[in-house]
Amino acid sequence: MNSESHAALAAALWPDAKQAPVKVLECRHCGRRNRVQVPQAILEPHHCECGACGKPLFLAPHEPLTALASSAYEHSLDRKALAALKGIPGFPALMRWLVAQLGERSLRLLNLSSSVLCGEDQFPELVALLERSRQSLDLTQRPTLFLSKSPHANAVTYGSEEPAVMIHAGLLDQLDDPEVLYVLGHELGHMHAEHGLYRTVAVVMASGTQRLGAVGQVLSFPLQKALYKWMRCSELTADRAGLLACRELGSSLNVLMKLAGGHRPGVTRRTKMQLAPFIRQARTLAKLEEDNWFDGLLATLMTMDSSHPFIAWRVMHLLEWVEHGNYLEILAGHYERAKRTAAA
Ligand SMILES: [Zn+2]
Ligand SMILES: [Zn+2]
Repeated sequence: MNSESHAALAAALWPDAKQAPVKVLECRHCGRRNRVQVPQAILEPHHCECGACGKPLFLAPHEPLTALASSAYEHSLDRKALAALKGIPGFPALMRWLVAQLGERSLRLLNLSSSVLCGEDQFPELVALLERSRQSLDLTQRPTLFLSKSPHANAVTYGSEEPAVMIHAGLLDQLDDPEVLYVLGHELGHMHAEHGLYRTVAVVMASGTQRLGAVGQVLSFPLQKALYKWMRCSELTADRAGLLACRELGSSLNVLMKLAGGHRPGVTRRTKMQLAPFIRQARTLAKLEEDNWFDGLLATLMTMDSSHPFIAWRVMHLLEWVEHGNYLEILAGHYERAKRTAAA
């Protein structure tokens, strides 16, 4: 990103520079507490140095977040919705049973027969981007990557035994490399936070395949509703992983804006979508959410045809995390670490 696009992004995010948030971050080298302007930390982290020891306050662009735990960035709404699901008597066992019936294996076979399996000799650029995202998040698990010809701008992750990420050509068409890093990081976040089991059931339910009937019969309407509500909240966690993988807020917001408004010829021929009005839209939503009606809406609406709905709502939550949550703390090296077994 050049300085001109930095300035444009800063103006879109913080039209009044005086209102831009400030944070106090501890230097991971010497422990000194430093006051930093959030815009500068977000847009030019490499220029942020510790006032005492002069060392960089933030990790280098693709320096791994060593042993990052998914709980370090898990959204509280995701955590709460998942706890509610797990609290339904018999639900976790039912999910495992359903996945066994549907079969991760059969989903995998379906992909093997209808999509392109990516590897070192097939779309190696895409595999390299997945690898970069994986290393930035310091994940040990390696999902299989599939490319599908679907025109729908989407990507999905499924499976818990053998996780797989599927990216649709319709999404890839619209993205540059940092944006692809964001999308793959988002999908890896689903895997890292162990969303695979429940999402597999939800993906099959939403896919409208023949299996839908069987799943629908087993899951009552309230159960389906709870599952979809969690599904939406799980996006908030995955969006954070996407940003942690690409570490470019502008690219992350661009992906979300493209998902919301489309980046189809009919759109781009008429106008270039602007980030500033879209951010204002998300901030307006933030005020509305305070009124508490949104949670009811979220629980009720079932946008079955899309696994990544409510884009402006996701933008709002991502900005909230960047400005007031622990995004910058994580990049400054302060985060919860996963316990790894010595043998690994
Ligand atoms: Zn220092
Ligand atoms: Zn997702």
